[in-house]
Amino acid sequence: MRPDRLNPLFVTAESLKGVGSTLARPLERLGLARVKDFAYHLPDRFVTRRAVANLDEASVGEQVVVKLTPVEYRTSSGRGPFRVLASDEPGNICAITYFGRASYSGKKALPLGEPRWVAGRIDQYGQMLQIVHPDHVTEESAAALGQLTEPVYALSDGLTQNRIAALIQQAMASVPPLPEWIEPGLLDKHQWPAWRDALELAHKGEHPAARDRLAYDELLANSLALLLVRNSNRKQIGTPLVGDGTLRARLQLPFELTGAQKRSIAEIEGDLAQAAPMLRLLQGDVGSGKTAVALEAMLIAVEGGAQAALLAPTEILARQHYETLSRMAAPSGVTIALLTGRDKGRARESILMGLLDGSIDLVVGTHAIFQDAVTYKNLAMVVIDEQHRFGVAQRLMLNQKGRRTPHCLAMTATPIPRTLTLAQYGEMDVSKLDEMPPGRQPIDTRVVAIERMGDVVSALGRHIESGHQAYWVCPMVRELETEDIAAAEARYAEMKSRFGDAVVLVHGQLRPEVKDAAMERFASGAAKLLVATTVIEVGVDVPNATLMVIEQAERFGLAQLHQLRGRVGRGEGKSTCLLLRGPALSETARDRLALMRETQDGFRLAEEDLRLRGGGELLGTRQSGDTPFRVASLEQIQRLLPIAHDDARLLMERDGGLTGERGEAARLLLYLFERDWGVQLLRGG
Ligand code: ADP
Ligand code: MG
Repeated sequence: MRPDRLNPLFVTAESLKGVGSTLARPLERLGLARVKDFAYHLPDRFVTRRAVANLDEASVGEQVVVKLTPVEYRTSSGRGPFRVLASDEPGNICAITYFGRASYSGKKALPLGEPRWVAGRIDQYGQMLQIVHPDHVTEESAAALGQLTEPVYALSDGLTQNRIAALIQQAMASVPPLPEWIEPGLLDKHQWPAWRDALELAHKGEHPAARDRLAYDELLANSLALLLVRNSNRKQIGTPLVGDGTLRARLQLPFELTGAQKRSIAEIEGDLAQAAPMLRLLQGDVGSGKTAVALEAMLIAVEGGAQAALLAPTEILARQHYETLSRMAAPSGVTIALLTGRDKGRARESILMGLLDGSIDLVVGTHAIFQDAVTYKNLAMVVIDEQHRFGVAQRLMLNQKGRRTPHCLAMTATPIPRTLTLAQYGEMDVSKLDEMPPGRQPIDTRVVAIERMGDVVSALGRHIESGHQAYWVCPMVRELETEDIAAAEARYAEMKSRFGDAVVLVHGQLRPEVKDAAMERFASGAAKLLVATTVIEVGVDVPNATLMVIEQAERFGLAQLHQLRGRVGRGEGKSTCLLLRGPALSETARDRLALMRETQDGFRLAEEDLRLRGGGELLGTRQSGDTPFRVASLEQIQRLLPIAHDDARLLMERDGGLTGERGEAARLLLYLFERDWGVQLLRGG
């Protein structure tokens, strides 16, 4: 049970003044559900604006305050944006642009013919200047707005900076001080503020010590929880599985396994033979052949008289895995089933039956395979594909309480560096596929200046005409997903005017059916060009797509560029990746793109990414999504995680039950970062 003193932090968002049904969705999208989530919604960066007399004085990309008079409303049909054309004193026109629900408040704030002070970032929109979702629109003079240094928070459609800042302030008022869980010597050495003070400071201005302390808290919570899991796992009992090789001998794979694959399989085989449940990570770049390893591993389980399951992160991937595995495993004679949330009625019943009576040996599916209604005769091994989110394996072990714990193999293509592996998976054993199957063609990667857009589109036209397919990845904007989508929609419209129906669009806010249908048209070859935001799903496989264009490539992390590039280079043909870059590149950005050209080694790229990001970008780095952390940046993880890890280990050695004064505080920390399953293990332990 959560300690009472944390209750104020877990009060839900609806209790905040002004949060009703309209804000529910936007807040949910940002993961802001409880008071503590608001307190931890730290600024991406801070902005200081310049007051300008007119638009001639402002440059593109700059944060300004300017007096504008609305002269015309432009509503577009469908889901398009709402624009207010506004004029400065000399008569320059600027579009003030709103998406979705924000349009209503935009219209209200900007009555025609009445001057307003507008604060926001100046962008280029065709021939015009534009401000998308201004941060402030007021009737007052610019003086106050112009001097202000303000936090800039990540937003979602329907929220403004003002709104979110006010909610955070409200939430902060109910945040209680908490006892210290950080070792006093460490706190002193780094001059870190106390927990509550650190939160206050982090919202007010650039305060590296405060940000570090908050990041350290998160890393410490994570390390502690992982140690608790590891200790508890050591005490658990699984089923020793020894295969006789009969099923594997019948496989007839169409290729010779690489040395790395053979080594990984041997390591897994060794683990499975033990009574202690396996907790192993199989790390291998896109295309390194993880599926074959998974299949061999699962067959060992079946040979040993048990069932095995493969968990995929999405419906599409589950289906793809099911087809591949069925094909590969057919000669062995094992029975494979596919189970997803979409299966209903008789078909589902019969699969559930087969899992219960043991007539199904292997099941592939989404989370549906672990629902309460699903009972296995003898599930002894689980493979988790693309385990991006932390804790799946760990939670699984809890779910299996009372029964024997299944062996667990987690597979990932995310080439995370060692420090991150430790953070994400704790002290899991690791098998690495560090050798690619022979005969892979390198992807011809080029950096192209955006000024040459015309040439790129012509090349794309020739590519499509020759019967091949292509991806076009749109730029990543900062705070707002809607801006990413707006950019993608504009690009899509442009491509459509040129290539007609051969173009499809995919982004995160499309309904699943619409998205699936677009993906389907592309996968079947009916569509030739897929325009997308960065949501292109991991693992989606279209071998005929041999060209990828990535806009504003300098804004992406190397690891992310690598993952995106991995969508091409999957077939026989030669593949090309064009990295379009903006006009003014920093030296670091230049180095990063050059590295993309040089190497296709995902691990090397990930290590370099971390190194190159080392300086400067403390604030304003959007979290990559590849880490289990919300507060700690990649750079902080690199710097502080080893310290947190050692500290956690020491604490566990001295006070393994977390019962002393600091131990009790550390329990609060685990609840605060929702690693409380760690505490539960303590009790169950
Ligand atoms: P990933 O690690 O990305 O999951 P896959 O398992 O999908 O990779 O394998 C990528 C491709 O490589 C598949 O077409 C697979 O059949 C092929 N492959 C796997 N292992 C080998 C090998 N040892 N030799 C040749 N091709 C292989
Ligand atoms: Mg795979």
